[in-house]
Amino acid sequence: MTDRVYIFDTTLRDGEQSPGASMNTAEKLRLAVQLEKLGVDVLEAGFPAASEGDFEAVSAIAAKLQRTQVAGLCRTGKADIDRAWQAVKHARNPKIHTFIATSDIHLKYKLKMDRDQVVAAATEAVKYAKSLTDQVEFSAEDASRSDRDYLCKVFGAAIAAGATVINLPDTVGYAIPSEFAELARYVLDHTPDMHRAILSVHCHNDLGLATANTLAAIAAGARQAEVTVNGIGERAGNTSLEEVVMALRTRSNCLPMTTGIHTEQIYPTSRLVSMITGMIVQPNKAIVGANAFAHEAGIHQDGVLKNPMTYEIMQPEAIGLNANKLVLGKHSGRHALRDRLRDLGYDLSDEELNIVFTKFKELADKKKHVVDEDLEVVVTEGILRTTEYFKLEYLHVSAGTTVMPMASVELSINGRKVRGADWGNGPIDSAYNTIAKLTGTSSELLRFTVSALSGGTDAQGEVTVRLRENGLVALGRGTDPDIITASAKAYINGLNRLEYLKAHPVHASQQTV
Ligand SMILES: [Zn+2]
Repeated sequence: MTDRVYIFDTTLRDGEQSPGASMNTAEKLRLAVQLEKLGVDVLEAGFPAASEGDFEAVSAIAAKLQRTQVAGLCRTGKADIDRAWQAVKHARNPKIHTFIATSDIHLKYKLKMDRDQVVAAATEAVKYAKSLTDQVEFSAEDASRSDRDYLCKVFGAAIAAGATVINLPDTVGYAIPSEFAELARYVLDHTPDMHRAILSVHCHNDLGLATANTLAAIAAGARQAEVTVNGIGERAGNTSLEEVVMALRTRSNCLPMTTGIHTEQIYPTSRLVSMITGMIVQPNKAIVGANAFAHEAGIHQDGVLKNPMTYEIMQPEAIGLNANKLVLGKHSGRHALRDRLRDLGYDLSDEELNIVFTKFKELADKKKHVVDEDLEVVVTEGILRTTEYFKLEYLHVSAGTTVMPMASVELSINGRKVRGADWGNGPIDSAYNTIAKLTGTSSELLRFTVSALSGGTDAQGEVTVRLRENGLVALGRGTDPDIITASAKAYINGLNRLEYLKAHPVHASQQTV
C-alpha cells in the first residue's frame, strides 16, 4: 500500500454532464492544458461514443497533453470500446475506462441482464480493452447499492481480465462515510487478486457527502479519487478536487497521504472552469468560494491580523489566491502580454496574439489595471469562441427615466451581417428582444446573474444566463466593462451553446458512473 493518492479528474466528462455546462472543443482543450498544469494524474476527457463533439474533444486532448494519462469512457460493448480507443489512442498515455452496472435494480430494469451475463460482459470488455492499451479501468455502476459478494466477484473477473484500476462509484450519492469506508475495506479484503489493481472511488454529492465518503474510503485503503474541479457534475455534482486535495494536505497528521497536485494552481483552475462552463461557484464553497478566506467578523479579523494561525487553517497562497499578481496596463507591450499569457498557460500563434493584443489595448483604455482574470476573458471570448455561429458586432441601447428603452444591434450569423432594433421594458430586455428577433430563436431565459469579475470599482461585469429551447438547456457567460454589453454577450454565448447542442446530438444514453 502506497501513501500516494492518484487524482482522476472527470471535470470534462462527469462535470460536463451538469445541466447546461456543455463546452466546445477549444474550451475543453484549454481546460485540459490547465488540468495538466494542476497536476492531475488521469484526465477523463469525455465519453467518445456519446456524441460527435465528445469524440472530437477527446481526440484533440489526447493529441495535446504531454504527461497526463488521458481516459475515454465507454460501456462494455465492442463498438463503444472501439470508439473510445480511436479517440484516446494518440495520447502518450492512453487509458480506457469501461463500466457496467452491478446493482440488482439496474440489472433488472436497465440492462435486463442476469448476474452471470454482467460478469461475462465485464470480462469481455476488459479483455478487449487490454488488447488495445495497458491502462484499463473498470467501474461497477451503482456499486454502493450492489450485493457485496457479487461486486467482489465482478471486480475479481475484471482484474483477472487485466484491469489495473477498479472503481467503486456511489453513482446515486446514497452512501454515508462509515458505510462507504466499510464497503471499500470489504472490497479490498474479498476481491480475488485485489493487490494487482488500485482501488478507486467515485462519489456523488446528493447528500452533501461526496468529499466525506471519498476521504473515508481513502482512509480505508482506496488510492484513487475521482473528482471534478468546483465539484461540478450530474445533479448535485461530484466530489470536489480542491476539497479532497486540501483536506489531505491540511490534515496529513490524520491522513498521511500525498497527491501530485500543485495546489497553487487550484484557484486559477477553479476560475477557469467557472468561466468556461458558466457555472458560478457559490460564495461559501469550501476552498474556492469567494468567502472561503474572507474574515468579516471583527474578532476574527483582529486575530488573523495578529497571527493568521488563530483562525486560518490554510494559507490563501497555498491555493494560488493573493499570489503576487502581475498587473498589466495601457503601456504594457506585446512582449509583456505574451509572457503573461504564457505563464497563464496560453501558447498563442502570432495571429492569435494579434487578436488578443488588440482586445487587450481596448480594455486597457477603459480599465486601469488589467489582471489575470481579465486576460482569461480576453482569450476565452476572443480565441476560444471564434468559431461561434452568432457573434455580436455592434450594440447601442438607449434607456432612462424619460425614454422608451430601445436597442439597435448588429450580429453576424455564420458570417452574414444582420441588423435590427426593438423595444423592451429595460435596456437588457430590449437588447434581448432584438437579438431573439435577429437570430430567429425562441429560448426561454431561466436565470440571469450579474457579478464582478475581480475587485475594484473598475472591475468588469460578468453576466451568466441559463437558457432553454426545445428541451435543451445551455448556460452562457459574457464579460465587459459595460454591463449591458456583458448581458448581450452572455445571451449570445448561451444561444451559441444551444446551437452546439443541436449540432451535436447525444447518441448514447447519458447514464454513467
Ligand atoms: Zn459520476
